Amino acid sequence: MLKLAAVSPGVPLGIAPLAAARQKGIPVVGELALAKDFLQGTLVAVTGTNGKSTVTTLIGDLLRGSGKKVFVGGNLGTPLAEYLAGPQECEVVVLEVSSFQLDSAGEFRPRVGVLLNITPDHLDRYASYEAYVDSKMSLFKNQQPGDVAVVNGDDPVIAGWLGKEARQHSPWSLRGEIRQYSVCETTGRAGALSGTKVRIVAEGEAGKKTEEYELAGTPLDQAPNTENAMAAILAVRALGCSPAAIQQSLAGFAPLPHRLSLVDEINGISYYDDSKATNIGAVYSALGGMKQQGKRFGAWF
Ligand code: ADP
Repeated sequence: MLKLAAVSPGVPLGIAPLAAARQKGIPVVGELALAKDFLQGTLVAVTGTNGKSTVTTLIGDLLRGSGKKVFVGGNLGTPLAEYLAGPQECEVVVLEVSSFQLDSAGEFRPRVGVLLNITPDHLDRYASYEAYVDSKMSLFKNQQPGDVAVVNGDDPVIAGWLGKEARQHSPWSLRGEIRQYSVCETTGRAGALSGTKVRIVAEGEAGKKTEEYELAGTPLDQAPNTENAMAAILAVRALGCSPAAIQQSLAGFAPLPHRLSLVDEINGISYYDDSKATNIGAVYSALGGMKQQGKRFGAWF
């Protein structure tokens, strides 16, 4: 007799066999919900419409650079289930999570959750854009006081959801500490971009202090990677990585292939491979980054 249906994120949760299972009282869960009872170590989870793989990888690098033993995977590289089946030797588990995974995540609770942005995507699977937004926001649903929610303070959709939540119009409330970042210097967020520097307001023993991280000369000095760097720095600072170790690892970061990789410069025109930009939000932000450099651009998708 079937006791539990563990569903791959590729399977829509509304299909008839799963509805029938639910009707018979058989729980339908995803990998993240299953992990809850087995996972050891500190959990960091990254979601967003775009930038997940880059930020997940960067957070892993920054943690390793601070001497921590880290597993990086999930919706990227090694699946979480494979890690859970092994000896689980890492002290920090950094997961890329998709909205489909979040939809069946049960009581999944990241100690640090990172939400990068929300723009329209996967609308073939969601009843409405609002449903997709709610799915992304649910990353923080089970967080408790002491957990940290790193969010993009410039994203109007996230801001709209947070405003609604503050007015108690959401079905659950955000209990983690919200750490927002912004490309504007003047917004008073926990993370901000000042020229080529990331400024972080950190809570030290002697109260609040501002730290600076230099992106110039690192592979993260161009939008949207500047934003990705801010998100990753806020996440790892919440886990005790030292500013000096973070700065060193930023410089050594190896960007993932097919994400805004410079292919060549011919006759003054830069050609980039951004074939991982598979939705409008990604293309929009990539082209925005090019404009900021004041260059002519040719795009190769
Ligand atoms: P994901 O795992 O979410 O698909 P990736 O890190 O693989 O994200 O990047 C995919 C594409 O998204 C990149 O090629 C780039 O064009 C775009 N991108 C990366 N970071 C961001 C960001 N912070 N905001 C918007 N677009 C981004």
